[in-house]
Amino acid sequence: MTSAILAANWKMNGDRAAVAQRLSWVLDSCEKLKKIQWLLFPPFPYLSMCHDQLAKSPVALGAQDVSAYTEGAYTGQVSAAMLQDVGAEYVLVGHSERRHGLAENDVLLAQKCDLALQSGLSVIFCVGETQDERLAGKSESVVLSQLAVVEALLKRESNLSERLMVAYEPVWAIGTGLIAKSEDVMSMHQAIGRKLALSCQSTARIPLLYGGSVKSSNAAELISIEGVDGFLVGGASLTKDFIKIGEICSN
Ligand code: PGA
Repeated sequence: MTSAILAANWKMNGDRAAVAQRLSWVLDSCEKLKKIQWLLFPPFPYLSMCHDQLAKSPVALGAQDVSAYTEGAYTGQVSAAMLQDVGAEYVLVGHSERRHGLAENDVLLAQKCDLALQSGLSVIFCVGETQDERLAGKSESVVLSQLAVVEALLKRESNLSERLMVAYEPVWAIGTGLIAKSEDVMSMHQAIGRKLALSCQSTARIPLLYGGSVKSSNAAELISIEGVDGFLVGGASLTKDFIKIGEICSN
């Protein structure tokens, strides 16, 4: 029944009033646009508020990060159990703003994924090549090697396909207005799908999202690409354009 997954990554933007406004846009539209699976990723301080307002709605809530540790002396970190306690069901792991901006490496990302999944959270694992890697012709090899983190988990656990999604976000397309060519998105999604299928113990497909400057003006073309199951949206999710993307994807 779901025609597309639409995840909003609000990053570090807004205040209580802005969050309330964005929630009202989604809540006003989610009943009408039933075929969309809506996922919202607000900043940590607004998770509880979002959870309260989203109660009884089909909209799911996620966090933008999770600690690699269960509890203890980790100043500033937030555990998977805490996220669940305030109503989060999903978490983003491997976003390029944390890989490149905060030097998160594969070892740390593997710990985060493992703990989040063991705790019962669902994970959107983000992968993507930088502009330099793209220009060097290494896009596919970089992205496929980033997948090693989740492949190891898929080999170990049989039913992970229900709690894991992968978002392909070319780093050079995030927040820049640049969009990958449709044929490049399709071939990367095919390569990711093939690689994950080899590790997956069930025949279920892992949903694959595209991210990087998705807007209502390019959503129709991007969602029509074979192997694109939805979007991880940053900038446009701060505005009503996010709802327009939902309208386009439900047609
Ligand atoms: P963008 O961000 O839509 O603003 O490019 C996407 C993301 O970082 O997930």
